[in-house]
Amino acid sequence: MTLASFLRLGFYFVRQLVMRLFGRSAGLKKFQANYANDRLLPLSPSERAALPDFSRCIACGMCDAAFTGYARVNRAEFRGPSDLPLSYSRNLPDFDSLTRYVSNLKEGDLDVLEQVCPARIPFKRLVVFVETHAAALGAPPGEHLAVATGIATERRSAKV
Ligand code: SF4
Repeated sequence: MTLASFLRLGFYFVRQLVMRLFGRSAGLKKFQANYANDRLLPLSPSERAALPDFSRCIACGMCDAAFTGYARVNRAEFRGPSDLPLSYSRNLPDFDSLTRYVSNLKEGDLDVLEQVCPARIPFKRLVVFVETHAAALGAPPGEHLAVATGIATERRSAKV
């Protein structure tokens, strides 16, 4: 190894260390700049950690069978609750178009759906996730915000 290559190697090593220490916020800014036009918003660490929970639906249909609100929903726009984990919540840039669909799920419905789901899909957390990102994309707040607020309050009380 020549002295020049040794110095070059040392320079890039130190530069890499500095970038790891201070580059996180720059990376986030770059992500926002690169993907803003695609409507892709950054996820928080807790949201990233929850994604596997949101996407483990096995399409068994138990939640569709247990849902008791079909009489009050518009069946043209709400086929069943399984559509949420199975497909509708898979594309972040479209979350602002989900507010009407999600507003068909009342808080009591979400409790029942969580109880019957064999894959343990956390419907309440999924609705909060969808609603939070829908609002960030400019969707007007829906009535399910009350569910989100209830869960946030529950979490705060659980921590005390
Ligand atoms: S009950 Fe759970 S696993 Fe079955 S379809 Fe509904 S969300 Fe998917």
